[in-house]
Amino acid sequence: MAAQRGELRLVMADAQGHIYDDPRLLMVCRRGWQWGLPRTDEIIPLPEESECFFLPGRQALGLDPETGHLAAPEGEAQLAVAAFAAPAYTLSAHPAYEAAKDAPLLPLFAYGAVGFANGRFYMCARRVDKEPRQEFRHIPKSSIEQGAREVLAACPCNRLVRHIVNNCVGRYDCPAARNFVLGRYEAPLPTSRSCNARCLGCISAQDSDSPLRVTPQCRLDFTPEPEEIVDVMRFHARRERRPIYSFGQGCEGDPLMNADLLVASVARFRASGGSGTVNCNTNASRPEAVAALADAGLTSLRVSLNSARDALYARYHRPCGYDLDNVRASIRAARQRHVWVSLNLLYFPGITDTEPELEALARLVGENGVSMIQWRNLNIDPEWYLRHMDAGDGGGRLADEPAMGLRSFMKRLKKLCPWLVYGYFNPYLGEHADIAAPLPGQWRMPLPSTLAR
Ligand code: SF4
Repeated sequence: MAAQRGELRLVMADAQGHIYDDPRLLMVCRRGWQWGLPRTDEIIPLPEESECFFLPGRQALGLDPETGHLAAPEGEAQLAVAAFAAPAYTLSAHPAYEAAKDAPLLPLFAYGAVGFANGRFYMCARRVDKEPRQEFRHIPKSSIEQGAREVLAACPCNRLVRHIVNNCVGRYDCPAARNFVLGRYEAPLPTSRSCNARCLGCISAQDSDSPLRVTPQCRLDFTPEPEEIVDVMRFHARRERRPIYSFGQGCEGDPLMNADLLVASVARFRASGGSGTVNCNTNASRPEAVAALADAGLTSLRVSLNSARDALYARYHRPCGYDLDNVRASIRAARQRHVWVSLNLLYFPGITDTEPELEALARLVGENGVSMIQWRNLNIDPEWYLRHMDAGDGGGRLADEPAMGLRSFMKRLKKLCPWLVYGYFNPYLGEHADIAAPLPGQWRMPLPSTLAR
């Protein structure tokens, strides 16, 4: 049953993690610096495989409909609560709370606004991909364990296989790795021990002075040989009819740091008749490496970015020796060679869904030939991110940019770039994708009147 915005109640937790709803206060959410009631078109029942958790050191706040003011709940349960959405869902708002001065930094998850009505939880989010690729609720753990044993038995000497099974499945519970041992969808191909960026929310390595003491995963501690990589690809192709193979995983640095290794592996795989979609998830800092990889047989390139604006990009990714212009050049190099380019857009309500970002993103997409947006959640403490984004570069305060909401942002971007495909996962494209995105230089930004709603 759908819930109306005025029905949704504040939820809060006690220190033991018990979650309650408040009979008096309404749920409030935030998009960047803007606070308000959730929009009716963004409220969905909490998706299966999502999780609620309380936020330490953060006071839950709701709207008192009698006074029209924000208020704290009564009683012992005072902590704010957030929801982590299942894969394929994009958050459209964060929870509203007031952090204590000594509140600990939140770990690298995405924190969605959640409320309660009609006997169930609701959250502010949108399903952006229909594919059940990372749904595991109907798959017994024993099937994954059996799959892991079979893969190890089939490739006993392959270090990459051992890493995927022992670390990615066994320690990190990585969905891509679990799918690999089940013989379906996308095979992960981690290869790189290093990176030329220092993203605030990197899940495999942080600087020694980072306030994030632990990362959810660890960097790969060896570099596989081309034959180990190709063996994994061939093994996956024997078990999945529509195979995807992806360089660039959470447990590594950036794959383009080892461009020669990737080129040699892809060329060898294709030369031996290897079929399917070869994909590279990357920061896209090296256009010449992208070109070489495309010539070797790459099908798709997924480029991660938090923003199409240079200053915001630099504040989050903290690139070393490259910038967003190099990323644009990589996208052009890929598109010119008939490679499907997706953006791994690290969506953050209130920062992404603004007028300046819409214009910058449409330009990046249209001028360089992007085919798809993957609407991913930025996993980070919301207030920490806002502080970094609003560092001030003489271009005006971000707090003055009103948020239009995820639904409007998606709709208006599509109006500007109608060929765009929306989703969450890397698509299966065969070996060569059909590409409708314009070639670099073919697209012009529509007149300003088109930017209006
Ligand atoms: S590009 Fe990837 S591996 Fe490199 S710092 Fe950023 S998140 Fe980490």
